[in-house]
Amino acid sequence: MLLVGSDHFIDHQTPDGHPEQPARARVMAEVSRRWSDAGGALTAPRPATLDELVRVHTPEYVDQIADTAGQRFRLDADTYTSADSYDVALHAAGAAITAVEHTLTEAMPAIAFVRPPGHHAEPDRAMGFCLFNNVAVAAASARAAGVNRVAILDYDVHHGNGTQWMFYDDPAVLYVSLHQYPFYPGTGAVTDVGRGDGIGFTLNVPLEAGASDADYDRAMREVVGPVVTAFAPELILLSAGYDAHAQDPLGGMQVSTEGFAAMTAHVQRLAETCCQGRLAAVTEGGYDLTALDACLESTLTQLGDGPPASGAAVIGDTNRVNSVIPAVRQALAPYWSGIFR
Ligand SMILES: [Zn+2]
Repeated sequence: MLLVGSDHFIDHQTPDGHPEQPARARVMAEVSRRWSDAGGALTAPRPATLDELVRVHTPEYVDQIADTAGQRFRLDADTYTSADSYDVALHAAGAAITAVEHTLTEAMPAIAFVRPPGHHAEPDRAMGFCLFNNVAVAAASARAAGVNRVAILDYDVHHGNGTQWMFYDDPAVLYVSLHQYPFYPGTGAVTDVGRGDGIGFTLNVPLEAGASDADYDRAMREVVGPVVTAFAPELILLSAGYDAHAQDPLGGMQVSTEGFAAMTAHVQRLAETCCQGRLAAVTEGGYDLTALDACLESTLTQLGDGPPASGAAVIGDTNRVNSVIPAVRQALAPYWSGIFR
């Protein structure tokens, strides 16, 4: 189990009052320090190279972000750069690659604590606090290293539009998202299932606001787990956003810290079943600093302890997922007939 982290992530500055604030990286640094003090393995990231970035971003877009170095820019309604943002963003993408390299080599889990987040960044534009799509860069890096099938699970409260579009026509990368819907950024309907050769390799679970631990757990068991298992990934990546937490100021969900741990355990069991435990997590959102601290800590503990042999279903009403599960099954049935009839 390896943690990839750095105090450098504090150096990406956003305007006062912005939820994606440097204090998030201070929380990451504090949790990293506790992990390291307790004997956990911690390594610093390297910057991603231009060759690694252009596997998912256009060269023109990478140049655009490079040109922000040393200055403050507003790139979209809520995405900003400061003097060091380009270099910080290179290290965020590089951290995700380092985590992937570790899990491929060691068959042990790894997690990268990074900001800015990445899953809204599209091939040619910054969006939703994101500059480079860290998890997508890492997935492409694994593919370039010879990994045949990569599954990306995204439990951030927002749909990862950037990740979806980057692999929308690629059958080698399964993208799975559980998210609040309708909500920012607007994508991620059940009918977004991929295109061309990639049709059937995008799985969206749009959940109404207020979804609980039990709703997420049921979605994991009844649709996410079966599809991921049938896909048989050689590597699983986790876009670990914690903004579905009940305390989060942006998200409208009711997930607890324990609920996130249960989802992480579920993902870890899938990695054990499918790919000898090859699981790399990369942080995304999570804007309540207390909840972020607790969730990062519990994710580290969960990944470090290894997956429980089997998990009991989370007890609670699942009204917010009842109608979604049949809709997902119907949308995916043409492509996964062995599991959804
Ligand atoms: Zn988010």
